[in-house]
Parts: sequence; C-alpha cells; structure tokens
Amino acid sequence: MEQQGILRKIPKVDELLSHPALSALDLPAGSVRDAVRRELEALRSQVLSGALESLPDHDAIAAAAGERARREALPSLRPVINGTGVVLHTNLGRACLSRRAAEAVAAVAGGYSTLEYDVERGCRGSRHSHIEDLLALVTGAEAAMVVNNNAAAVLLILSAIGRGGEVAASRGEMVEIGGSFRIPEIMTQCGCALREVGTTNKTHLYDYENAIGPETKALLRVHTSNYRIVGFSERPPLAELVELGRRHGLPVIEDLGSGSLADLTAFDIHDEPTVQQSVKAGVDLISFSGDKLLGGPQAGLILGKKRYIDQLKKHPLARAVRVDKMTIAALRETLYAYLDPARAREEIPALSMLGESLPMLHSRAALLCQRLADQGCAAQVVEAESQVGGGSCPAQTLPSWAVAVEPGRLTVDGLEEALRRREKPVIGRISQGRYLLDVRTLRDEELPDVEAAVKEALQ
Ligand SMILES: *Cc1c(COP(=O)(O)O)cnc(C)c1O
Repeated sequence: MEQQGILRKIPKVDELLSHPALSALDLPAGSVRDAVRRELEALRSQVLSGALESLPDHDAIAAAAGERARREALPSLRPVINGTGVVLHTNLGRACLSRRAAEAVAAVAGGYSTLEYDVERGCRGSRHSHIEDLLALVTGAEAAMVVNNNAAAVLLILSAIGRGGEVAASRGEMVEIGGSFRIPEIMTQCGCALREVGTTNKTHLYDYENAIGPETKALLRVHTSNYRIVGFSERPPLAELVELGRRHGLPVIEDLGSGSLADLTAFDIHDEPTVQQSVKAGVDLISFSGDKLLGGPQAGLILGKKRYIDQLKKHPLARAVRVDKMTIAALRETLYAYLDPARAREEIPALSMLGESLPMLHSRAALLCQRLADQGCAAQVVEAESQVGGGSCPAQTLPSWAVAVEPGRLTVDGLEEALRRREKPVIGRISQGRYLLDVRTLRDEELPDVEAAVKEALQ
C-alpha cells in the first residue's frame, strides 16, 4: 500500500527532463532521456524490493540521472595507459600507430579522398595502388595486396588457391590463434582438404614430397608464431620447400603471422623471421598482419608472384575482406618509414618500444618514482620483464624496469582496480604481490597522467 504511494510519486520522464540539471547537459537528447528512464526504473525496482522507503527529491534524482548520462556518454572504446610492458597487447589494441600514420588517418577520415580515383588520368583508380608499389619496394616482392587482417588474408589465399583440392602442411604447424582461428578449420572453411604431413616435432622435405598427388593444389608453411617446438625437432628450410613446389608446379604459401620487416636481432630478438627472408626464398604467396611487429594498423598484407596476386584480386571474397581508406592511409605511412630502417625504429612505436635501451628505461622509471614521491606516494624502481605480445616471440621476454607502487591504505588488488576503473584507465600488472607499471610501454607524455591517477587512487 505504502509502496504504491511512493511509486506514484516517482516523476514522469518528461517532467524530469525539464529540470535544469538535465536540460543544461550538452549531450544528445536521446541519451539523456535514456539515462532518465533508466534512473527512474532503478528507483522503481528499489522501491519494490523494499530497499528504498522514501523517495529522494527531484533535484537529487535529476542529479543522479545527469551523472548516469555523463557516465554513459563515455565511449567504451577509449584510450588507456599501458603499464603492462606487453608491447603488442592484443586486448589493448595491439600496435600503436606512429604519429605520422595517425595524422594520415585523420587527414582522409573526415573528407573525400583519392581512394579509388586516379587524379593523373581523371578516371577510376584502384585502392590497391596506394600501397602495392611501396610494399614491393620495401620487401622486394613482385606484387602485393592488402586485406582486412591476416586471418582474412589466409582465408582468401586458401579459397583462391586450394579450393577443391588438397593443401599439404606440417603437423607441427597446426596453429590456433586466439578467437577460434585454427589452420585445420580454416582449410575446411575454404573448401580445401588438409593433407597433414610429418609429425609434431619433425617434418622432412620427403614428407611433403610423398604427399604430393594429382589433388595437391599447394604447399603451406605456417609460422608457429605463438608457440615453439624445441628439442628434437626439424623442418625443411623454406628455400627447399620452394624448390620442391617449383619441381611439381605447385605454389608455396606462407602464413608468416607477425611478419617483421625489421631485423629484430638488434633488439636481442632472435627467432622471428623477416618478411624479406621469405620473399628472397621465393615463396609464391606470403601473408602477415599489419598490427603485430610491423607496427601499423590492423590489416592483412599479402605479397607474392603477380599471377597469384592477380588471382586473389579477382576472387569474389576479395570484396568481402577489402580494407578501408583509414587503414590504407595508416599503412602507407608505416611502410614509408621502413624505407629508412633508422627512421622506422624511431617513428614506429612498436619498434621504438622494443628497442628502448635499459638505461633509458631505468631513467624513465626513476623519473616516475620521483614524481610519485613528490606527491607523497611511495614507490620503488624494480627490475621487470616485458613481453613482445601479439602472440609473437613466445619464448622470450625483454629485461626492463618498472615502478612498484605501494598500495598505501588500499590493497594491491584495490589499487589495481582503482587505476583500471578510470575515465582514462591505467593498466598495470600484479606480480609477486606488488603492483607494477613497466615503463617500456609508457610514454614520457603519459607520466603526468599516471602520477595524477596514482595520487587520486591513494587519497
Ligand atoms: C596472428 C596470426 C594470424 C591472424 O592474424 P590477424 O591479423 O590477427 O588476423 C594468422 N596466422 C598466424 C600464424 C598468426 O600469428
């Protein structure tokens, strides 16, 4: 009875919408109305459950609805500060674009562009033209094309080349990437039969050779990007596989996974093959990601012999997996930087982070520590191990420096949560009971934000 009385006093949506606290909000009318409706619904269910015995006044309800509207106005996809030390953090968006690449995206995003328009001749052009020559120049490949991501590249290649026949691949390379991308299942999807050859740890050239028959359409090599088979293990050198394909008139396809254009041995990363090595070995079709070690936008890059690339471009699936103008803009700038390896190392965040020297990392950690101390927050510089991430270089970590923040009045988990649940989240790592911010993935310009976030969390 009493509940009914309270429920009747809950204001109508329109009544509340004219409240100054809400009418003054600079937010789309639909989102404010939705927030008010939800606020009133929440009140109603609190009354019904007996949790609320009297109604707050209209000012308080309007203020709460306004707060709800402001909270929901924040996009759920928004920037974070990465203090995990994982450079290609898949959950945090993989590679960060270079400044030039980001500017190139902004330049084409808001207006018209030459996406498929040839300004020289004043007629229709091709979206592939913006990248193809540059990719050929950087890698030495005969021809190239770009699709949405590497999974799409593999899908397109196997559909165009393998459909209706068999594709031979080593048992040791039956990779699963996160998100249910698995080589055997992709093959089925593409209408080709997988002919598994060799064993988990050893596959010889003769295993491929013995598997070749009238149904064979291609030989597939997959980089085991996210795992390694070590010990008593072997697979034929790429050049020998290519030679075998040549002898039988079969294309050799390689899913390179990360696909590094830079020689990473300078960063002490020794087991990541380069794209140029595969091109040089004569592989007919090579595919790799744009946003892993390349350090560009999400994309699938395909390099290879012109006759096969032409076949891919004409395939019906090509349209379904094509890239948009923003990707092309970002990729062009990223690839352009590779024409000067030193410039690539400096400008492309993935490479500059991987190449950061230990003394530089230490001084950034010491600076952050000092800034935190100035704010009355206790922290120490400690040794840490960064990861390449993105499923690359699974067997290797990179020595780094981190700042271990004392949780003060909070628990370590509480500190982690307080920093994570911010408008601009700070994502750290808990290791051996300590909250760590690995400075390899922090940029100098982010340090003031980190400092403010920690200070607020510990207040
Ligand atoms: C990462 C990866 C893929 C998928 O690439 P995306 O660009 O994420 O679609 C496919 N194959 C291998 C071997 C990989 O490492």
